[in-house]
Amino acid sequence: MNPRQDTPTLEFDADLIRRLDRNGPRYTSYPTADRFAASFDAQRYIAWTQHRNVGVKRRPLSLYFHIPFCNTLCFYCGCNKVITKNNSKAVTYLDYLIRELDMQAKLFSSDDKVEQLHWGGGTPTFLGNAQMRALMRATRERFNLVDDDKGEYSIELDPRKINAETVAVLREIGFNRLSMGVQDFDPAVQRAVNRLQSEEETLAIIAAARAHRFKSISIDLIYGLPKQTVMSFNQTLKKIIDANPDRIAVYNYAHLPALFKPQRRIDPADLPSPDTKLDILGLTILRLTEAGYLYIGMDHFAKPDDELAIAQRRGRLHRNFQGYSTHADADLVALGVSAIGKIGPTYSQNFRDLDSYYQTLDKGTLPILRGLELTQDDLLRQCIINTLMCHFELFMEPVEIAFLISFENYFAHELDDLKKMQDDGLLTLGDRWLSVTPKGRLLIRNICMVFDKYLRVDSDDQRYSRVI
Ligand code: SF4
Repeated sequence: MNPRQDTPTLEFDADLIRRLDRNGPRYTSYPTADRFAASFDAQRYIAWTQHRNVGVKRRPLSLYFHIPFCNTLCFYCGCNKVITKNNSKAVTYLDYLIRELDMQAKLFSSDDKVEQLHWGGGTPTFLGNAQMRALMRATRERFNLVDDDKGEYSIELDPRKINAETVAVLREIGFNRLSMGVQDFDPAVQRAVNRLQSEEETLAIIAAARAHRFKSISIDLIYGLPKQTVMSFNQTLKKIIDANPDRIAVYNYAHLPALFKPQRRIDPADLPSPDTKLDILGLTILRLTEAGYLYIGMDHFAKPDDELAIAQRRGRLHRNFQGYSTHADADLVALGVSAIGKIGPTYSQNFRDLDSYYQTLDKGTLPILRGLELTQDDLLRQCIINTLMCHFELFMEPVEIAFLISFENYFAHELDDLKKMQDDGLLTLGDRWLSVTPKGRLLIRNICMVFDKYLRVDSDDQRYSRVI
């Protein structure tokens, strides 16, 4: 039997999730960032950028800019951010960011094409309109961005701090996709997480994005927040579905106050019980699929005509630090504090605090804190994990040919674990393929974890959130 005959769908099985839910990485990279080491420094990074310039065909570039500032603190936050209302901090930061941009641009050829660009945070729109124009202008002066119809230029917005004019400016300077945090419309939930955001503010920004012809509008929701109930989240879902975004991401709130200080301000007594969370998740899947959204994987839903859904159908979906992407394996140049990049078979991460980031740039050195050169084994496992995350199935023969291995011998332990998962109903193992079942799709992280060599030698999974 060919597993592709089994059309991808999603099945919510609360008992299975209850039984198998465990902590696990989200695999926006493999190996995960906590495996990076300080031995990978700016010199190693520069050496790897030089390898790009050998040969005729080069991988396209993707640029990621991290803007760490936020006006107010959301109590659920686990991001790297700086809370301030003082815009002069952004003035200083932009100055350093453009210095870094300058240093990075010198490592690449003017022929290198940038096919993707993303501003994340923090809150990128903490920058004023003039500052955003200046940053984009500085980028275009140093890098070769492809035209609007070919490039994926995206930004994370906070609707509380912007208006329709800002949306117009963003489109004018080149952004064509946006995502927006909503989390939950219920005022009680918003008060409990210190994020007051009216429906009017959110809907006005969605309308402005449509008017300015953004190609894709994505909304982020979070389930498992304090004061949330099935009934209240149902209302939020209804309003979001009515607003008709192209994509909806529904994240699980992971309460890890030992790791994330802001979360200590959430009263654990206000959190929904695990059973309520599961009910909310079940309801979310029901409502979104009823409304015509397809499950892409790992928290993401998209309309059938959205480019992510199309790419998945065509077997061309990819996964990177921003989540799912339609663009093939680009080299990722990361700019700004804590940003993570990827050049060839390497990862690198910038310093995570502003002082170290600034001081390193003052010395004329790229502000790289740590990184990793992937081994052949890392690349093999990365390929398998990405394929599973994007397509929920794996054909073994192409992997054997690409990596010159016998799958059965190389992954004997993993196959034993997969057989147990088959008994649990998470997947079907064929002679030369593996296919994740509709009810296994919500537990795709569990399946990927089987291939994570680092988890086999170090099973301290407390650093990760629960799968659901
Ligand atoms: S959740 Fe986003 S907006 Fe809120 S504090 Fe964290 S980074 Fe800032």
